[in-house]
Amino acid sequence: MSDRTAAVIGAGLGGLALAIRLQSAGIATTVFEKRDMPGGRAYVYKDAGFTFDAGPTVITDPDCLKKLWALSGRRMEDYVTLLPVAPFYQLCWEDGYRFDYADDQDAIDAQIAAKNPADVQGYRDFLAYSRDVYREGYEKLGTVPFLHFKSMIKAAPQLMRLQAWRSVYSMVAQFIKDDRLRQAFSFHTLLVGGNPFETSSIYALIHALERQGGVWFAKGGTGALVQGMVNLFQDLGGTLHVNAEVEEIETDGNRATALRVNGTRHAFDMIASNADVVHTYKKLLSAPKGETLARKRHSMSLFVTYFGLRGERPDLRHHMVLFGNRYRDLISEIFHGKDLPDDFSLYLHAPSVTDDSLAPEGCSAYYVLSPVPHLGQADIDWDVVGPQYRDRILDYLEEHYIPDLRRDLMTVRHFTPFDFRDELNAHHGSAFSIEPILTQSAWFRPHNRDEKLTNMYIVGAGTHPGAGIPGVIGSAEATAGLMI
Ligand SMILES: Cc1cc2nc3c(=O)[nH]c(=O)nc-3n(C[C@H](O)[C@H](O)[C@H](O)COP(=O)(O)OP(=O)(O)OC[C@H]3O[C@@H](n4cnc5c(N)ncnc54)[C@H](O)[C@@H]3O)c2cc1C
Repeated sequence: MSDRTAAVIGAGLGGLALAIRLQSAGIATTVFEKRDMPGGRAYVYKDAGFTFDAGPTVITDPDCLKKLWALSGRRMEDYVTLLPVAPFYQLCWEDGYRFDYADDQDAIDAQIAAKNPADVQGYRDFLAYSRDVYREGYEKLGTVPFLHFKSMIKAAPQLMRLQAWRSVYSMVAQFIKDDRLRQAFSFHTLLVGGNPFETSSIYALIHALERQGGVWFAKGGTGALVQGMVNLFQDLGGTLHVNAEVEEIETDGNRATALRVNGTRHAFDMIASNADVVHTYKKLLSAPKGETLARKRHSMSLFVTYFGLRGERPDLRHHMVLFGNRYRDLISEIFHGKDLPDDFSLYLHAPSVTDDSLAPEGCSAYYVLSPVPHLGQADIDWDVVGPQYRDRILDYLEEHYIPDLRRDLMTVRHFTPFDFRDELNAHHGSAFSIEPILTQSAWFRPHNRDEKLTNMYIVGAGTHPGAGIPGVIGSAEATAGLMI
């Protein structure tokens, strides 16, 4: 163990991954987490015998997680078990059309052929494009910190070749003609806070990422992955404090020197923040950059309803995307509108399909999320609107997908944009931090190391490469490389 010390502000997945990397490299690391449990967006609620993962449920690229254990010669399997999910997602439309998306080329081809035969070849061409972007954008650049503009210039020829200025949707639409199939292969950017009509086509790599590494679920829920990471960190000798909100990062010239937590000063050699980037610069560092970051475009927020039911629902799949009748216009209202749209498209999480330990015997656990405008865009009083909106969503589910939902309802809670703002210190209550458009990606995103404070670092969704589990785990690799 070296005598260097580091602090990580926030125990989100990115913060924990960074802390593991630092501790594995012999740097004595302390994590300070505001909430009473680690995980950040991957928090866990336990109500009436049900276990509800609050946030991420779709685990892709399991290898990026395994690397965290391999650093110290350990095995992830000894801490957490990943279960394969099949199909990856079931995509559903109100008229009853369904598409089971799995890593099965024949099954995908057959479903596409039944919808629009000409799109079978189009899909293959899209997959080839997606794999190309995956190699260039994820494998080569996903864990490289973009500190200098020259790194952007170096990547420019590849970005040009891959037509990174175009949107994911326009690229999908070039290859695939059927409207539903276009939706099926472009919605993925929403999983990392991006509007498919505006997010760079580089994000089409998510499709290849899923086909390549599969879709997984942690046995016991994503909370079990968080706990596994905490156990690893503590086994390595790291320290985690919960109920420990950092109030201020002290600086001296070009150095970050200490943290103020619950009134006490803690000095460190290096400091990394996994907290929201606007909160970090504006509140914790009182730096003018906070205002600049606050003006950037932020991802949409989410309204999430967690509920437990008596009985099981064998006709549901683990991950279901429930498309409403509008796609482009609805997404446009979510990202640019001033009001809450009347209709919605939903993601339904039904983890009991894969793991029956998350609900009491004979019962089943769920969450349903609806993308909604963030607070900087739509002035909605969620304390008033929240319960009504939750009821509308449950009614919709009962009508279209889960008969007798109300009769069998045992427990329900919801999480609004206000909660993202107040619980997670998220600017505008954004669910995914700074929006992943081309002009806010790579070098244009807040850097993994501050430009002025030479020992101050950023990790998590707000820095390169961005949101999502593989994104924040990749950001930890980029940031740790600079710190170590
Ligand atoms: C509902 C939902 C579903 C999602 N589904 C998926 C999915 O299926 N797959 C996927 O890959 N991604 C998904 N995502 C995205 C993914 O969860 C996030 O991008 C990722 O977890 C963010 O990790 P992070 O490292 O940026 O930290 P965060 O999770 O944002 O954690 C930051 C932590 O910092 C703490 N903090 C803030 N301020 C302070 C302070 N002053 N002092 C101390 N601590 C502080 C917060 O309490 C929090 O714990 C989802 C997100 C949401 C919200």
